[in-house]
Amino acid sequence: MSALTDDQLAIVETTRDFAREHLSPHAIEWDRTGHFPVDVLRKGADLGLGGITVREDEGGSGLDRLDSALIFEALAGGCPTIAAYYSIHNMVASMIDRHGTPEQRARWLPGLCSMRELASYCLTEPGAGSDAAALTTRATRDGDDYVLHGVKQFISGAGSSAVYVVMARTGADGAHGISAFVVEADTDGLSFGPNERKMGWHAQPTRQVVLEGVRVPAAHRLGAEGDGFKIAMGGLDGGRINIAACSLGGAQAALEAAVSHLTDREAFGARLIDAQALRFQLADMATELEAARTLVRHAASSLDEGDPRAPQLCAMAKRFATDTAFSVADRALQLHGGYGYLADYGIEKIVRDLRVHRILEGTNEIMRVIVARGLIGAAR
Ligand SMILES: Cc1cc2nc3c(=O)[nH]c(=O)nc-3n(C[C@H](O)[C@H](O)[C@H](O)COP(=O)(O)OP(=O)(O)OC[C@H]3O[C@@H](n4cnc5c(N)ncnc54)[C@H](O)[C@@H]3O)c2cc1C
Repeated sequence: MSALTDDQLAIVETTRDFAREHLSPHAIEWDRTGHFPVDVLRKGADLGLGGITVREDEGGSGLDRLDSALIFEALAGGCPTIAAYYSIHNMVASMIDRHGTPEQRARWLPGLCSMRELASYCLTEPGAGSDAAALTTRATRDGDDYVLHGVKQFISGAGSSAVYVVMARTGADGAHGISAFVVEADTDGLSFGPNERKMGWHAQPTRQVVLEGVRVPAAHRLGAEGDGFKIAMGGLDGGRINIAACSLGGAQAALEAAVSHLTDREAFGARLIDAQALRFQLADMATELEAARTLVRHAASSLDEGDPRAPQLCAMAKRFATDTAFSVADRALQLHGGYGYLADYGIEKIVRDLRVHRILEGTNEIMRVIVARGLIGAAR
């Protein structure tokens, strides 16, 4: 990878300052109380974090995927949970920017870019997760409207979001029978399950989205009928880079905390940082993170350049970076001894937050399915 440009370095610095000032000091408390800090999200939007890749004339920042990866890594240094919610919101905003009509962009993007309105991505269902093309939520055409029935599972931001991009079946079984719709929060028939109790990501809500006879104008369909699965998967390519970058930021913070802890801590008459066995561990952690970072940035650039291998590279980067970062964060916890297990040190929170990155936006097993499919396709 070539060195970052001055503009990119400035983006990183600005985002780190934001994370240091507005996320880090509160992250442990938000995790403890389950507080979703919408006011802080909006502060970030004042810096352009609400529509990072959205075109500038719709209120976005007009940045590319590599810039996004830098931003999400810097944000996650302050709090991986909040960085990850920014990532999901941005995925939806960029889908509307990319696939929306001028009327749709004008209707939703200004609110999303300023984060006056938050967004959720609704693909997963109770009976269809990895096999998302088997989804059963149905959208039936009725005059100038569609009427939606179904349940979406594990939806990040649900209940707080104003805009829901919902993938629903308009045609036959399989991926080609799926269309994407923008559903507004105040639509009759839309409701939410209780906030799920979960291992990490406590500072953002995860709820079911229940659609019971939800009527949306046909003008709220994103793209053509039958294009919904393609739109959803295209969104996930960028989303996977961003979630991978969130893992890097969390793990980097855990590594830095481990260096600092070992520097301060003494045992057996010497500083722990002077024990070569521990130094070697730190060296390995830093090396593995740097390798993951290089792959994430390479995959981000491949999306920017329209490389046909981009979906495979994004899957490789997501799998490798989220597994590596989790392992680094877990080793950082170990290097803190008993203190790593205490909530006040913030390390156990990073481990819990990073765990889910190996599951969502496509599990890491599904990432291997995508990579292998590319390999086998290439060999034919
Ligand atoms: C906190 C949280 C937030 C989430 N946010 C969202 C959101 O905002 N929007 C959204 O749409 N979804 C969201 N999800 C859902 C997430 O994307 C799914 O949980 C994920 O895709 C896996 O689906 P599943 O849970 O149904 O697992 P399953 O598909 O049932 O998989 C179970 C296991 O089998 C493995 N497996 C399945 N198929 C294969 C295969 N072919 N080969 C090898 N292994 C396989 C999986 O990897 C996994 O280990 C969220 C999930 C969580 C936990």
